[in-house]
Amino acid sequence: MPTDFRSLAELCETLESTKKRKVMTEKVASFLKAIDPREIEPAVLMTLGRILPRWDQRVLEVSWVTLLKTINKITESEVNSFSRAVTETGDPGDAVRLLFRKQKLRKQSVLFTSQLTILKAHELFQAVIQTSGEGSREKKERLLYTLLSMATPLEAKYITRILMRDMRIGFQEGSMELAVAKAFEISVDLVREATMFSGDVAEIAGLARTKGRKGLQNVRLMLLRPVKPMLAQVTPSPRDALKEHGGETAFEQKLDGARIQIHKSGKLVKIFSRRLTDVTESLPEVVELTQKEIHEDNILLEGEVIAVGKNGNPLPFQHLMRRFGRVREVEQARLDVPIKLFLFDILLVNEEVLIKEPTSVRRKKLEETAGSIPIVKQMVTKNAEIANKFLREALEEGHEGLMAKRLDASYTPGMRGKGWLKIKPTMEPLDLVIVAAEYGYGRRQGWLSDYYLAAREIKTGKLLTVGKTFKGLTDAEIKDITHRLKQLTVKKEGHPVIVQPRIVVETIYNEIQESTRYKSGMALRFARISRIRHDKDLDEVDTIEKVKEIYEKQFARKARYH
Ligand code: AMP
Repeated sequence: MPTDFRSLAELCETLESTKKRKVMTEKVASFLKAIDPREIEPAVLMTLGRILPRWDQRVLEVSWVTLLKTINKITESEVNSFSRAVTETGDPGDAVRLLFRKQKLRKQSVLFTSQLTILKAHELFQAVIQTSGEGSREKKERLLYTLLSMATPLEAKYITRILMRDMRIGFQEGSMELAVAKAFEISVDLVREATMFSGDVAEIAGLARTKGRKGLQNVRLMLLRPVKPMLAQVTPSPRDALKEHGGETAFEQKLDGARIQIHKSGKLVKIFSRRLTDVTESLPEVVELTQKEIHEDNILLEGEVIAVGKNGNPLPFQHLMRRFGRVREVEQARLDVPIKLFLFDILLVNEEVLIKEPTSVRRKKLEETAGSIPIVKQMVTKNAEIANKFLREALEEGHEGLMAKRLDASYTPGMRGKGWLKIKPTMEPLDLVIVAAEYGYGRRQGWLSDYYLAAREIKTGKLLTVGKTFKGLTDAEIKDITHRLKQLTVKKEGHPVIVQPRIVVETIYNEIQESTRYKSGMALRFARISRIRHDKDLDEVDTIEKVKEIYEKQFARKARYH
């Protein structure tokens, strides 16, 4: 018997109302145990708010307008009821459930008996993802209509949350690994390790059910199969990194490009992105370089590629993105956006798996095998002054900052541990004004906590948005700002709430990018509010011209780097 999607929605509902991790894990474990083997992978994915495995880069993209239209059509509600329900409940999922329930009462019929199974729901979600090109909006609307019109109010709630890619049930991948281990009586360590190598817990769950412990033991670091990259935690300065690592540490330049894994087996070379997508076809020069320079038969290398301009100067990150995922006109792109590779790690060479080896040993191996491919500059020191100087030089050369790698740290795939620390100084703060805001979710439900920030364009006098953030403020500050924004509201309905520009905030960020998202043509990357400037007036807001100037400077800084 196929399992109804309703059971999965009920499971999610139970998880949402449970705080105890152990109980949550047990509930999911017994659920996984009870369902059909074919349903395990989709069920795990959907409980995590996903449709595809991690290494698949396609995303479930449904616009707010499409969702709104579909909900209104199904529930026969008037235009603004969905927005109102979102404001009332603080969550699109809860809002949809509310409207579905009202509809049910109105109709007093058995219209809402579930007809959806786990497999059917997953299949329809997949169909939405696969829809692209001309007329795709209408097609997506039709698919979404089919999916939601089969759903009960509770199912509609979780369909919406999957669409929003935000399950809000506090059950993440780590907990899922525990549940899989429990369900199929396999040690958590084995499940974790297999997930690291496979790159996806849902696939491992399916394998655990069909092939058991043996099946998972066979999942190893394998050439030509992407492995989850090791991640870094943030630390403010080289001094902090030294303190954390307790003495000598390997500082490396942190390049601002895109991370790639290079797998070479004989003549065959495959390249994967940070998100484990196969990008081999997009980067033919990396394939050629590897074939030419690397003489080992089998090797797995990691490095960063950066885009370089016509005169060999590095270009901002977004130019590089034009190279990724491209499969057509690659040759032209190769001419337009040349790239350069810098290596920083080695995970496997011939029969030797190196991930358990310490940083220092891996670096040495890398130097022995890299041929003439450049390796990122490294400095091993325990002296904070020397490390600071290395950081200043890295920034001067146009790099993003430093990585600090503990000398005895092994390579832990997929983990954001303290073995690797990143040091990234932020750029000159900007004083911007809040022009619109959105209501938050979860703990911030009912509060206007997501802000659109604008600078003034001198030539037109207009305020143009340059970024959006929900980061940096305390709960008390958010509450205070909500009260003030409510008094300043110009347009309440819809999304977002438009306000009179009054509140000035000092904002920090990592980088300024060109962007079509806002009329200003620019967007702050990783913006966060550092202070509310009660002392500043609207006429003291920074200008678009200044934002442009910082953007250009950032360019010039990068242009010096070679
Ligand atoms: P972040 O993306 O800010 O979390 O920083 C980690 C990223 O820095 C990695 O995923 C790499 O893409 C990049 N990176 C640049 N240089 C290095 C390096 N020397 N070692 C490791 N990662 C680096």
